[in-house]
Amino acid sequence: MIELQNVSKSYRTDTIETLALQHMNLSVPAGEFLSIMGPSGCGKSTLLNIMGLIDEPSEGTVALAGKEVTSYNGTKVARFRNEQLGFIFQSFHLINDLSVVDNVELPLLYRRVGAKERKRLSLEALEHVGLSNRARHFPTQLSGGQKQRVAIARAIVGRPNIILADEPTGNLDSHMGNEIMEILMRLNKDLGTTIVMVTHDERMAKKTHRLVRLSDGERVS
Ligand code: ADP
Ligand code: ADP
Repeated sequence: MIELQNVSKSYRTDTIETLALQHMNLSVPAGEFLSIMGPSGCGKSTLLNIMGLIDEPSEGTVALAGKEVTSYNGTKVARFRNEQLGFIFQSFHLINDLSVVDNVELPLLYRRVGAKERKRLSLEALEHVGLSNRARHFPTQLSGGQKQRVAIARAIVGRPNIILADEPTGNLDSHMGNEIMEILMRLNKDLGTTIVMVTHDERMAKKTHRLVRLSDGERVS
């Protein structure tokens, strides 16, 4: 489902070059729930951004869902990202002046989905995360765990094959963190969604199928 071959990424400024990833090979089969751990600055976000087609590798190739995407142009990347990928972030990234249901339907606005169908799919996604009763609320009226559930609904509303999650439980207490993990595990199991999750929490990582550790831009396990 996700295939990285010999991927390197360097960031250049006038004076310094930072090697964020070095010769990374990683293969994530369809249906896997993979976690990624490693110390701050080891390249976890860079790796996730490259898998998510937010960042381009300096070297190497990326294939997603059987398509070699490294050569795609901007428009094609944007469409592919919208159709195949869902993103979840530590800080939720919700839009505070849109209602919950309006936040959830955002990915569908980029497609030719009519207003009524957008609403139906969004309410269905909210039901999936147990938040149907908050559809008309605004993000500022929700707890952290609820905000993250809205973000998950938004990530799944377009039925992506892959979900990329950057420390989804990082801002939550352990109770809410566990709830979020339960939802992700259910998505993975019931819908077969491939999930790659960056985490600092060994207990969360233990619940996934496989753990890859990074250090200084390289895989150490
Ligand atoms: P992690 O997510 O594991 O904390 P990152 O992927 O954010 O690590 O960063 C990996 C390395 O790349 C770090 O040394 C970081 O300082 C550097 N880096 C990340 N983004 C940039 C950027 N936009 N410009 C320059 N250096 C960057
Ligand atoms: P938790 O204990 O899970 O952190 P909160 O105590 O933050 O949850 O919120 C409890 C309930 O009250 C939640 O269901 C939330 O939707 C609602 N709520 C929280 N803050 C507000 C607010 N400012 N306006 C309206 N409802 C709110």
